[in-house]
Amino acid sequence: MDKKKVLILGGGFGGVFAAKALSSNGHDRFEIQLINDNNYFIFQPLLPEVAAATIHSSDAVAPLRLLLRHVRFGQSEVMGIDFARKVVIVVQGFRRLPVELPYDELVIALGMGVDLKRFPGLQEHALTMKNLADAHRLRAHIIGCLEMADVATDPEIKQQLLTFVVVGAGFSGVETVAEVNELIRRALKYYPNIDKREIRVMLVEYASRILPTFSADLAAYATRRLRLQGIEVTTGIGTKAATSDAVELTDGAIVPTRTIVATIGNGPNPLVSTLGLDMHWGRIKVDRFMRVPGHEGIWSVGDVADIPLVEEPGEEPLNYAPQTAQFAVREGRQLAANIVAKHEDKPLKPFAYTSKGSLASLGMSKAVAEVYGVKLSGTMAWLLWRGFYLSFLPGFATKIRVAVDWMLNLIVPPNIVLIDSSKPSTRYIHYRKGDVVLEPGMLIDGLYSVNKGALKLTIDNPETGEHFEKVFGPGEHFGEPVLLRSAPGTGLVVALEDSVVLWVSQQDFTWLARAAPFLDTYLKDYIGKTLGAPDEAFAAESAKRRRELEAL
Ligand SMILES: Cc1cc2nc3c(=O)[nH]c(=O)nc-3n(C[C@H](O)[C@H](O)[C@H](O)COP(=O)(O)OP(=O)(O)OC[C@H]3O[C@@H](n4cnc5c(N)ncnc54)[C@H](O)[C@@H]3O)c2cc1C
Repeated sequence: MDKKKVLILGGGFGGVFAAKALSSNGHDRFEIQLINDNNYFIFQPLLPEVAAATIHSSDAVAPLRLLLRHVRFGQSEVMGIDFARKVVIVVQGFRRLPVELPYDELVIALGMGVDLKRFPGLQEHALTMKNLADAHRLRAHIIGCLEMADVATDPEIKQQLLTFVVVGAGFSGVETVAEVNELIRRALKYYPNIDKREIRVMLVEYASRILPTFSADLAAYATRRLRLQGIEVTTGIGTKAATSDAVELTDGAIVPTRTIVATIGNGPNPLVSTLGLDMHWGRIKVDRFMRVPGHEGIWSVGDVADIPLVEEPGEEPLNYAPQTAQFAVREGRQLAANIVAKHEDKPLKPFAYTSKGSLASLGMSKAVAEVYGVKLSGTMAWLLWRGFYLSFLPGFATKIRVAVDWMLNLIVPPNIVLIDSSKPSTRYIHYRKGDVVLEPGMLIDGLYSVNKGALKLTIDNPETGEHFEKVFGPGEHFGEPVLLRSAPGTGLVVALEDSVVLWVSQQDFTWLARAAPFLDTYLKDYIGKTLGAPDEAFAAESAKRRRELEAL
């Protein structure tokens, strides 16, 4: 008998538990293949602990090849689906060639994306908490801020570096703010120039209270606990906009900060939104059996699927399965049973599940728990939280590693080694009116090309009394004379209005200048027009710089 091919897209809770259930009930009848862009399964509830260095980053994940027996795994990126020809297009391998994977049954379990576009500047300036790279980046960023604050001489910059704002107070926001706060406070003993009173950690929530899935009394306990730990909990106030050095709140307050962590803004998965499927609240519309209506053999589970829990769900959010790991696991198992039932000509079962409760860690060995209607808070809840997640972690090796990390964390100080492998890359930067972009003497680290707004450059030479001013508008740029000469800048640049600038890193700029000689002519001409006649020195310096670049 020919085996039917089941292709599962996404190796998160929904996809993995569907694949596991299908492989134990039907690997003799189905050829099962799972596609994911990483070769590991992430236990997302542990990401805040990775960010806080409580557990090692590789311990919050498990290799998909190890977890999935009788399942063919491929590390590929899904690029499209041709529903008519029943093939999924993926790119994979060394040459990243597009490949078509045929299917009889297709499960879409690709999770959600992040969409922060509603808040100007947040997409560009906020860190997110969705995957392992995010948690890693946040940890490096926090330690980097402490290192810079320890040597900061400007009190304003020090204040920005020591203010940490987490936006959104669901599970991930509360656990992230608690863990970040614990890391910072435990690490302070290594930073003699930082006083604990200079630390400001904030949790900003638009709703009237935190942890909406918990009952009001537990949420109130959690708020008190977080405040006792020195966290400012603000409810009823949201985020309006962000810049490189501040976040603006809906009550008009401007909080100077270099760290914004956005745990809000669940948006459609970028690939899923291009598939032409019927969507509801950014999720794929499915029926109660998790089938995509109008598409034979297409199913969807997990956060990406909008699964109705009742016959006429309407627009009531409570009538749809919530986006939690707890639900995704059960959805995956039920979906596998429905695929088996379909091929045995048996009736399918609608998805039905009632939450058994919720657990949230509050840091400092405290948590809140609401399980089977029983409410717990404090250390008992924290022990339950740890025990539950340990039992839930997939794979024996992962359980052991996390348990060891937890034990070590109780007795040894936090690891503040800063391994920052990320290089500054070209990006958009938002500035508020009045923001100082560059100061005299600052080492210019890139080219600034104005996209929106206006910025004013002022150069004063105290020795000669010479004064120069220029306003840069959209399409104009600055920084290039200094980059080409590789010398410190001498001007003050201030945003005259709210502005957006494309910042091209020095490395990217020098690569571009090296590969495109016409830029030299363009820049000489541009600099001549903006800063005065092109001087001999510039021509000589830029030729010298090019020779240096060519020698690289
Ligand atoms: C920080 C944090 C804490 C949380 N805490 C809890 C908690 O305490 N309790 C709880 O119940 N829930 C919690 N959640 C929610 C829970 O993690 C999610 O509901 C769950 O992960 C959803 O599973 P999923 O399989 O639908 O999606 P995901 O886990 O997001 O998996 C989707 C997979 O698809 C892959 N993918 C996406 N696009 C492509 C593509 N184009 N090509 C290839 N692969 C792709 C992704 O890389 C990912 O591996 C938390 C979430 C976060 C972020």
